[in-house]
Amino acid sequence: MLYGYMDKVARIDLSKGRVTAEPLRKELIKPFIGGRGFGAKALWDELPKKAEPLSPENIVILAAGPLTGVYAPAACKLSLVSKSPITYGYADSSVGGNFAAAFKRAGYDMVIIKGVSSKPTYIYIDNDIIELRDAEHLWGKPVSQVEEELRKELGREFQILSIGPAGENLVKFASLVTELGRASGRTGMGALMGFKKVKAIAIYGDKDIPIYDIEELVRISDEAYSYIRNHDDFEWWIKQGTVRTIDWCQKLGFLPTRNMREAYFEKAADIDGASMAAKKVAFKSCFACNMPCCNPCMSSDGVLSELDHENVAMLGSNCGIGSMDEIIKLNKLCDDLGLDTISTGNVVAFAMECYERGLLNNYPDVKLSFGDFNAAAELIKDIAYRRGLGALLADGVAEASKKIGGEAEAFAMHVKRLEISAYESRTALGQALAYGTCDVGAHHNRCWMILEEVTELGRFNVSLEKAKHVVFLQNARALFDLLGACRFTWVELKLPLSYYAKIFKAVTSIDYKLEDLLLASERVWSLTRAFWAREIEGFGRSYDYVPKRWLEEPLPSGELAGKHITREDYDKLLDMWYQLRGWDVKTGLPTRERLEELGLREVAEELYGRAEVTTKAKL
Ligand code: SF4
Repeated sequence: MLYGYMDKVARIDLSKGRVTAEPLRKELIKPFIGGRGFGAKALWDELPKKAEPLSPENIVILAAGPLTGVYAPAACKLSLVSKSPITYGYADSSVGGNFAAAFKRAGYDMVIIKGVSSKPTYIYIDNDIIELRDAEHLWGKPVSQVEEELRKELGREFQILSIGPAGENLVKFASLVTELGRASGRTGMGALMGFKKVKAIAIYGDKDIPIYDIEELVRISDEAYSYIRNHDDFEWWIKQGTVRTIDWCQKLGFLPTRNMREAYFEKAADIDGASMAAKKVAFKSCFACNMPCCNPCMSSDGVLSELDHENVAMLGSNCGIGSMDEIIKLNKLCDDLGLDTISTGNVVAFAMECYERGLLNNYPDVKLSFGDFNAAAELIKDIAYRRGLGALLADGVAEASKKIGGEAEAFAMHVKRLEISAYESRTALGQALAYGTCDVGAHHNRCWMILEEVTELGRFNVSLEKAKHVVFLQNARALFDLLGACRFTWVELKLPLSYYAKIFKAVTSIDYKLEDLLLASERVWSLTRAFWAREIEGFGRSYDYVPKRWLEEPLPSGELAGKHITREDYDKLLDMWYQLRGWDVKTGLPTRERLEELGLREVAEELYGRAEVTTKAKL
């Protein structure tokens, strides 16, 4: 008996209009656990090498973890894995809410989507039934309307994940959204679905998930829920969620301000956690989570959207906007159009700086300035519909800055072509490294080092301990994506990671210690790195740097004015990081030996050719 998994992988070929299903390959379970791990392995195995992201060959994998949908703290995540249209590299993005639990309870570990539909379609899943249904009537509509119409058509018990006009128009940072605020935001999954002409996935599931030891699961999970409920920070967290970090970032000089030119925002007090809480109208959480942080907020004129640190900082301070009402509205606009709020805030701020520097003279109708809400809102719509300057920006800051030319590339804030998220890190070497080495491009959710740097490790110094901590956090955070759970239980309310090892055993029967689980994360990190190298000619160390702005431009204001990290220090820490991962310091790629140690022999052969096995696989 297989516990924790549904033993089913469905394949949808949109070009042929065909749906098939097969049992899960059991040999994937121990080394890759599930979720992002299953997705990364399937992408490696099944994507035709060097396939164009926006082509029928590219595949989008939806993958649940063994914990997805079970009674365990925040066991609510589903990973979407593919080759990104914005980075051209490995990509994944997870989504919470209730969609993932419905996916698992419909009976799937993975759904793999390939091909392209000849006309707009939506994928209908009701337990074992999968159908491709006509979506002509939904095409062109905003996310909120799609969700409403599909729920009316199918029943309120269906969970809906859909794209907006941005995905249809192949905006390279388009998202998928569910429940009007939970998004698979980063790396352009919405554009991939738009290319495939998939407007939405509607899903209903009511199967039981097989659990190895239900009594033990309930016992451990009850204990974990109670730990969370009794944490000193619980009340503060449910009031403010991640928006509480705005104030903290402002005090310590991390708040992205005006395209990350600065790290202090004069109106931070108007957009901080307390200001957000004043606009909050309900408590809302994802499936199985007792620490609600979705923060549904309403503007004075009745616009509703869900706020977190990322959308407040990127659409707020980073665009010079210091009004919570205006942020709520920009956020709602992004969600409805199906745009990643992080990349959007980064791209709009980049355009504002370009305008200030006189680099947008080819667009005489455009007028932009930091803090101009109306201009930001118009630009966001133009991006979603690829109109005028919006068409240029719809490909992301890396591409746009090349086309604009001049000095624009120097202040395009991205790593590996993915826009940097909401932590200005030129005074935090470890966090800069976390961004630089992130496996999907610059994304804080893979590693958030700032707290440790401020409290223990120091912001500017180079140390092995710091490099080790980056690796540890990257692996620990990956674990949540493999298991199918939200990391905030551990990150924010300090639920010990060991709970997840115990829960994993109670669910699956697999007697893994935490180290075994973290080794699976390590394996996935090396696998995805190899994927980048396989897909991009010349990929390696040069891709792991943060923008010049952080390495060369001193902070202009605040307590740390005049300071920045240096390339020399960054290089030293990067060397340590490669060594800790068992990767080559010069090339930045996993060595043959390391890949073989991790049981990735076929990956080693792909990168280095066939050779004698040099090390016994540790599985
Ligand atoms: Fe969702 Fe927040 Fe709970 Fe995570 S902590 S599962 S994001 S409500």
